[in-house]
Amino acid sequence: MNCGVPFCQSGMKLDGMFTGCPLHNLVPEWNDMLYLGNDRHALSRLLKTNPFPEFTGRVCPALCEAACTCGMNGDSVTVRDNEKYIIEQAFGNGWIEADPPANRTDKKIAVIGSGPAGLAAAQALNRRGHNVTVYEKSDRAGGLLMYGIPNMKLDKRIVERRISLMRQAGVGFELNADVGKDVPAEKLLGEYDAVLLCCGAKQPRALNAPGIDSEGVYFAVDFLTAATKQVLDGNGAISAKDLDVVIVGGGDTGNDCVGTSIRLGARSVTQLEMMPSPPVQRTPDNPWPDWPRTLKTDYGQQEAIAVFGHDPRLFETTVNRVVPDSHGRVSAVETVKLKGRDKVSGSEQLIPCQLLLIAAGFTGCQSYIPKAFGIETDERGNIKTVRYGTNIPKLFAAGDARRGQSLVVWAISEGLAAAKSVDEYLMGYSEM
Ligand SMILES: Cc1cc2nc3c(=O)[nH]c(=O)nc-3n(C[C@H](O)[C@H](O)[C@H](O)COP(=O)(O)OP(=O)(O)OC[C@H]3O[C@@H](n4cnc5c(N)ncnc54)[C@H](O)[C@@H]3O)c2cc1C
Repeated sequence: MNCGVPFCQSGMKLDGMFTGCPLHNLVPEWNDMLYLGNDRHALSRLLKTNPFPEFTGRVCPALCEAACTCGMNGDSVTVRDNEKYIIEQAFGNGWIEADPPANRTDKKIAVIGSGPAGLAAAQALNRRGHNVTVYEKSDRAGGLLMYGIPNMKLDKRIVERRISLMRQAGVGFELNADVGKDVPAEKLLGEYDAVLLCCGAKQPRALNAPGIDSEGVYFAVDFLTAATKQVLDGNGAISAKDLDVVIVGGGDTGNDCVGTSIRLGARSVTQLEMMPSPPVQRTPDNPWPDWPRTLKTDYGQQEAIAVFGHDPRLFETTVNRVVPDSHGRVSAVETVKLKGRDKVSGSEQLIPCQLLLIAAGFTGCQSYIPKAFGIETDERGNIKTVRYGTNIPKLFAAGDARRGQSLVVWAISEGLAAAKSVDEYLMGYSEM
């Protein structure tokens, strides 16, 4: 690992985008340990910065690999697959065990939301000795790791395995507990010494088009959640079998909908993207180690190419109107080409569609939560904080709820940083 300066672990902003690992994973160190066959030491270096490599080793877009020094004039070294290998090897060998703290403080902390931000904070604060209870409105813990990212990308047994370790270490989980609705905000602020909001940014961006209220139109996360419930409980999926599926949104969530629709037996899948297709290779104004703004053909799109023989994406295209049948069910989608933000007249096209999925992004935290606590949000619907503290004493926020819809690795990083702020607030100092 003769990197010189290893950019993989930098996690810094360059040209408005982040490059390198936000957790500052010590990649060259554990890659070298792996090469030397010292798996146990590789594990200790990996766990030093990343509490959940079993998640990032599967779902992270690997900002580290894009920033790898070797990427300057060739291929980067492998990072993400090695990370997964190290942690799975460790689980397989019984090296990962529940770690309850030796001593407990008398401080009680409520964490709202059990996504990667809430889990990272809860695990760290529990290790510190505080008494942590996680409130989760769903029937299972994990946030978007559980109900969002599809099972084929992140097997739900991997999420359950971590939750189970955390329970054994003493973290409490209150499921089916919707804070701000079933559980009053005042009750939590009264009973706990600190409250940390990690409730995500799941407010979906709606699509404004005539006919959009037809039956058979769903938001992406509702569709993906139902598909996961089908895998776990044997029922609940929104059927895509023998249907023509249209997905609005060319991003990662849209890609998950492509892969899931194919596995549910869709007859055809079309994915609409407003932006033009990015270049295949880096352009001169997007040099290494910037994040590459290049065309990514993800697993869902690759599967579509394998099954249907072509890329499902239509670039610079949006929905002009949704065409319902006589029963009010979506039967087709009229698309239109875009030049910038303008529709190109005469470019309208009808695509048969019986299932329309909207994956057009998110507009921040669901508004009833900040309202229930009386805290401020910014113009993008994200909770405003200073060093993770809100405008209400003892109330903190982290993850997508604070930062906007982002990545698992960022949620973990925010959860750890917020845990330190909470610890400092409670104890007057923190060595976390
Ligand atoms: C479909 C999809 C696929 C994605 N795929 C990837 C990927 O492959 N790789 C990647 O890095 N990132 C991916 N992301 C982004 C990533 O999942 C998120 O950035 C990350 O999960 C945010 O973590 P979080 O803990 O802040 O919030 P979340 O994971 O959203 O968790 C928030 C939790 O809070 C709970 N909650 C909300 N309100 C309340 C309340 N009032 N009371 C109690 N509980 C509440 C929610 O039920 C949820 O469980 C994906 C996102 C989506 C939508």
